[in-house]
Amino acid sequence: MNIILLGAPGAGKGTQAQRLEQAHGIVQISTGDMLRARKKANDALGRELSSIMAAGNLVPDDLIIRMLGERIEQPDAANGFILDGFPRTVPQAEALQRMLDSKNLKLAGVIELKVDEDALVQRIAGRYSCAKCDAGYHDEYQKPAEAGVCDKCGSTEFKRREDDKPEAVRNRLKVYRDQTAPILPYYRAKGLLETIDGMAPIDEVTQKIEALLKKAG
Ligand code: AMP
Repeated sequence: MNIILLGAPGAGKGTQAQRLEQAHGIVQISTGDMLRARKKANDALGRELSSIMAAGNLVPDDLIIRMLGERIEQPDAANGFILDGFPRTVPQAEALQRMLDSKNLKLAGVIELKVDEDALVQRIAGRYSCAKCDAGYHDEYQKPAEAGVCDKCGSTEFKRREDDKPEAVRNRLKVYRDQTAPILPYYRAKGLLETIDGMAPIDEVTQKIEALLKKAG
């Protein structure tokens, strides 16, 4: 089963992707996580990625399309994958379609998590993740069961993203409106797009996604 989760930054794609990964044994592919890992090399490309990402802009299509192409070839993606953060432009959506066609793969669904922008800013301002296993948390909406201890791996170290600062967030929302939202009609035209209210509580969003996937077979 191959799924795309779409939605502005802070819409809850990462949270839902982690849940789908556990429930269905399919792998979450977050291009943002891949780029953050690549950045750590701190070579010329790493530094270029850092400055693009810190400002909340998109990295070039050809680079991310190549990275994604290599990622879905990995053995852990053979069962299926949840794309979180890709595609983000129409050329990326078209390139993905060509990759899927060439591998005879189909999309089970493209799910848009819709949220209003004011709520997004608040959500993003409160989010953080485990420094060790990347499990996502939020100051208000998703606290670890035991304060200061990661539910998944027990680590006590957490981190916040540089591009979750207010100025970068405003730009990321603009980039979403200008460059990513235009892919919604692309998937609507294919009859694949389903929109879910991402303002609903996390468990309810998960249930709605599961119901859609069941319907899609
Ligand atoms: P995310 O974790 O999905 O919010 O991504 C963080 C940042 O990584 C984005 O603001 C972009 O700078 C970059 N990025 C992630 N995915 C893509 C993509 N598909 N195309 C271009 N840039 C991306």
